[in-house]
Amino acid sequence: MTVTTDLESYEDALASYDPVMGLEVHVELGTKTKMFCGCSTELGADANSQTCPTCLGMPGSLPVVNAIGVESAIKIGLALHCEIAEWCRFARKNYFYPDMPKNFQTSQYDEPIAFNGYLDVQLEDGEVFRVEIERAHMEEDTGKSTHVGGATGRIQGASHSLLDYNRAGIPLIEIVTKPIEGAGERAPEVAKAYVAELREVIKALDVSEARMDKGQMRCDVNLSLRPHGREEFGTRSETKNVNSLRSVERAARFEIQRHAAVLNSGGSIVQETRHFHEEDGSTTSGRIKDNAEDYRYFPEPDLVPVAPARAWVEELRAGLPEMPRVRRNRLREEWGVTEHDMQSILNAGAVDPIVATIDAGAPADQARKWWMGELARNANEQGKALDELSITPAQVARVAALVAAGDLNDKLARQVIEGVLAGEGDPDTVVEKRGLKVVSDEGALTAAVEEAIAGNQAIADKIRGGKVAAAGALVGAVMKATRGQADAARVKELILEKLGVEG
Ligand code: ADP
Ligand code: MG
Ligand code: ZN
Repeated sequence: MTVTTDLESYEDALASYDPVMGLEVHVELGTKTKMFCGCSTELGADANSQTCPTCLGMPGSLPVVNAIGVESAIKIGLALHCEIAEWCRFARKNYFYPDMPKNFQTSQYDEPIAFNGYLDVQLEDGEVFRVEIERAHMEEDTGKSTHVGGATGRIQGASHSLLDYNRAGIPLIEIVTKPIEGAGERAPEVAKAYVAELREVIKALDVSEARMDKGQMRCDVNLSLRPHGREEFGTRSETKNVNSLRSVERAARFEIQRHAAVLNSGGSIVQETRHFHEEDGSTTSGRIKDNAEDYRYFPEPDLVPVAPARAWVEELRAGLPEMPRVRRNRLREEWGVTEHDMQSILNAGAVDPIVATIDAGAPADQARKWWMGELARNANEQGKALDELSITPAQVARVAALVAAGDLNDKLARQVIEGVLAGEGDPDTVVEKRGLKVVSDEGALTAAVEEAIAGNQAIADKIRGGKVAAAGALVGAVMKATRGQADAARVKELILEKLGVEG
């Protein structure tokens, strides 16, 4: 399917209009059981094996609220500087879809558990932008439908659909921003930075792994344009289920360009949901957006209201971890790195591995060097996150210690890491098995140096004649002869010494 959409250039769009955004982020909580029943939330089980009368919506079944779900919601609210409701209820959001066996979603409507907060996010250049939060509310996920037999995996053209209710009832927290104004041309960057920071907060709270690639966190991007100087918002589009940080930024950018083209040609924006397409960063029309009243929200009669005791809320507030931005600034100073380096470390998912490696005894610069160099490259090649590599921070710290002790040079250390990643054992075992110690025996080194000089007389003469740079070739010969196991700096010293040249 190719849909050509008219786009205004980004610069021209911003020259005439101010973007306004609203971000709705769904986070799947990492609770052991579902929000209203005792079914497991573990991923990867056989279809429909984690279901019960309650999450299948059988007559006579009754829901019970998951206390950890409520606690997680309050923690998220507090971390986002929200007020926590003294008393609130769940509501039924009524609509039909086969992946929702009750024919309504248990959600919250006008009585969210948390409201009126903000999250400060740091942009690439260090500037801090405050995103205001309207509310964070509790709800449940739907089941999963798989449309079979069509070309696109969509329901159109499918011969039949399969339903898996394992996901139905998994707790979700939906976090909704107030309209984000004043970001101008940086709106897409702000959107991405907000989702990134929110993900860090969620991870720091340890309430979800918040993996966007696993659908544990997904974002709807609402966007509208208004001419410069106009107060009133334009009509918004809502791009649904955007599932990577980069896509959030691209979706916002695309919609700015699309809206501008429509408005400039005298058209008007339809309030609708849109689908985002990874392949080319475009969006296409979804459904005309229902109004809230179409859902016939009403208070859930089967659940008691949630009235968290103030003492409990204060206890949770006191137990909040250091917030990611504060922690990052602290680590940046401790490690002595620039804003820009810290951003790269964050983007690479290397903050925690580096901290753990330092905790295991490695100097900060060594820990940073290995995780951001060799290991980042490996993770990239294998399409894995750093913390999914088969090497532990303690093992990286051991490699760093061997380098510091002069037992390994960088080249050998890389081979040790390669061995650990390949499952050959811990660093000491790999050193042993592959015979990777630095040759520090001066006798053996001297012999290798003499041999290299004897075999390369012409080069040796050049060096004697004052061309010290030519020593590189001899160092190379010695490294080759020792299979990379010599200390290159020491080899160079020895060569110059032998040839009677000052270094
Ligand atoms: P819905 O359930 O219809 O998606 P919500 O109120 O839950 O509505 O979310 C709408 C989101 O879009 C919120 O983040 C809100 O701040 C934002 N928003 C509302 N109106 C506009 C607008 N005209 N342009 C951009 N964003 C908007
Ligand atoms: Mg919405
Ligand atoms: Zn169940």
